[in-house]
Amino acid sequence: MVKMKKIGVLAIQGAFREHRNTLEKLGVEVQEVRSRENLEGIQGLIIPGGESTAIGKQLEMNDFGETIVKMANEGVPVFGTCAGMILLSKRIDQSNQYSLGLMDTYVKRNAFGRQIASFEADIPIKGWEGKDLRAVFIRAPYVLEAGPQVKVLSEYSGKIIFVRQENLLASAFHPELTDDLRVHQFFLDIVDQYQK
Ligand code: GLN
Repeated sequence: MVKMKKIGVLAIQGAFREHRNTLEKLGVEVQEVRSRENLEGIQGLIIPGGESTAIGKQLEMNDFGETIVKMANEGVPVFGTCAGMILLSKRIDQSNQYSLGLMDTYVKRNAFGRQIASFEADIPIKGWEGKDLRAVFIRAPYVLEAGPQVKVLSEYSGKIIFVRQENLLASAFHPELTDDLRVHQFFLDIVDQYQK
């Protein structure tokens, strides 16, 4: 019998309900994660968009973030979207806010400028067949620099917006806000690869 996957969605603040809905459409059991204890028994974790400083403040307390770092280092896949991408990054431009520091990336917050704070675009993803992905950007970051282990999966107007580093995945956009399930499915495939 195939065991049903259980994926955690960090539910401190931001767009966690939308991630939950998308994962449920893909037949996955979802566990909302609000404390370190809730991390138990999950095979993957999504860190949603929202406000990275607010989410980071909670992660800083009670070994919450530390536990996520430990799990990720042991191979549990983690997917960060938008604020989640910022929280996964080793370095954040002009900010000393808390981050998990897991991905060898240097990100810039609210990077597309105030004039076009929010927008949508059709973007191609490296290695994917089929139509471009409709990507929703909301006060989105982008990656200024990516280390050698980081695979760039997509760029938009010359900016890196979708990256993978082994079991870690990060997007500047919000795949949970469209009906296209491919990005979440891609993450679940990574979870399968790392399943012990
Ligand atoms: N601008 C937010 C931040 O810097 C991220 C925006 C989002 O997650 N939609 O944390």
